Amino acid sequence: MKTLEKINKIISEQGFSDYKWINANEIVVAQWVRVKCEFGCSDYGLGTCPPNTPSVEECKLFFKEYENAIVIRLTKEADKNNYPSNWSREMTNRLLEIERQVFLLGHQKAFLLNQTCCSLCKECTGDRLNCKDKRKSRPSPEAFSVDVYQTTRNCGMPIEVVKQNPSEINRIAILLTD
Ligand code: SF4
Repeated sequence: MKTLEKINKIISEQGFSDYKWINANEIVVAQWVRVKCEFGCSDYGLGTCPPNTPSVEECKLFFKEYENAIVIRLTKEADKNNYPSNWSREMTNRLLEIERQVFLLGHQKAFLLNQTCCSLCKECTGDRLNCKDKRKSRPSPEAFSVDVYQTTRNCGMPIEVVKQNPSEINRIAILLTD
């Protein structure tokens, strides 16, 4: 079995079917994403969010070191006032398992940009050094300045701003591989 097929099988075994392979250089990195992290996002300052992440220029350099990326779209009916945290945690665990198995296939650079900012702990320490789960915490694509809307649309997957609550929402994870 070819490597690509093995990775597809790993993804499928974790229950995901809505994903696209792209070249890592198709990931759109933009300054405006960082500005919106800094101003307007209540998660700013969490352990895997800015200012605990590389600068936008460093993020661009980081993505240049990868060849392939898998954009995984999650869809869920959700109410922002009663967010499905258990579902989100379960999705994170499955995505981390994919990262682990892809690494064990021999892809030493495998790295997950998670579908949410890290919410593994009830109380986040707000920094990397004192993070309570350094092994499992991963940044979101947005925390690495990825324009998730444009990147997702560029791979032919529709994604829209959610205008109503409750509503069907999308969450986007990106698995980077060499
Ligand atoms: S594992 Fe806990 S302390 Fe670390 S970034 Fe995530 S929520 Fe914060």
